[in-house]
Amino acid sequence: MTKGKLYITATPIGNLSDLTLRAKEILNSVNLIACEDTRHSGILLKHYKIDKPKLSFHSHSGHAKVIKILAHLKNGDDVALISDAGTPGISDPGYVLIDSALDLGIEVIPIPGPSAVITALCASGLPTDKFLYLGFLPTKKGRQTLFKKIADSEYTVVFYESPHRLKKTLKQLKDYLSPDSKVVVAKELTKIYEKFYRGNIDEVIGHIPDKPRGEYVVMINTA
Ligand code: SAM
Repeated sequence: MTKGKLYITATPIGNLSDLTLRAKEILNSVNLIACEDTRHSGILLKHYKIDKPKLSFHSHSGHAKVIKILAHLKNGDDVALISDAGTPGISDPGYVLIDSALDLGIEVIPIPGPSAVITALCASGLPTDKFLYLGFLPTKKGRQTLFKKIADSEYTVVFYESPHRLKKTLKQLKDYLSPDSKVVVAKELTKIYEKFYRGNIDEVIGHIPDKPRGEYVVMINTA
């Protein structure tokens, strides 16, 4: 029996029009869509009138779900993996499934598209020929070590931060950065309230409200 293919399919990070033509074709052609959250992805799939069987696959899914998806692939079903937003596997579930699929000789095909890290960097105005992506910073242990790494980096550093930790993180980072370090915070990319805050760390902190809402990417260049 010919095995199915696993398509790692990027979806919009806010603006539904950012689904690529190829992603739409793939989502329309597969037998099963593994979604981080079936209800969340249901909005995108309904918008594009894509009606396919869905299965939830998130960070707490456990090995049983991986086995289930692999069984579909072994039976010849093509499966698309999508996350709530952006590119699966980039600070999103995907790694374990992809690694296990490759072990079984299943073809894994990337369907590229939006990712907040690249979307933020490309308009940041910071050097992007080389960059260091840190995903989400640890919330407890290891923060100081990473702050030091960010301050010492010869490359632009980019990381994701939740709105309720954003201001605290920037204030903590301030103690490690030189006053002329360049800081850019990208908010709500591709959405109505998209905004870039650019400046030194004090200027950027000054722009962020005490109780920010939305989604944020932080970029720092100290070189
Ligand atoms: N896989 C996604 C990607 O490719 O960008 C990232 C998923 S991660 C769980 C979610 C984080 O990405 C958010 O907390 C935020 O830091 C960042 N993010 C996602 N969408 C964003 C947007 N529209 N604007 C700014 N940041 C965004």
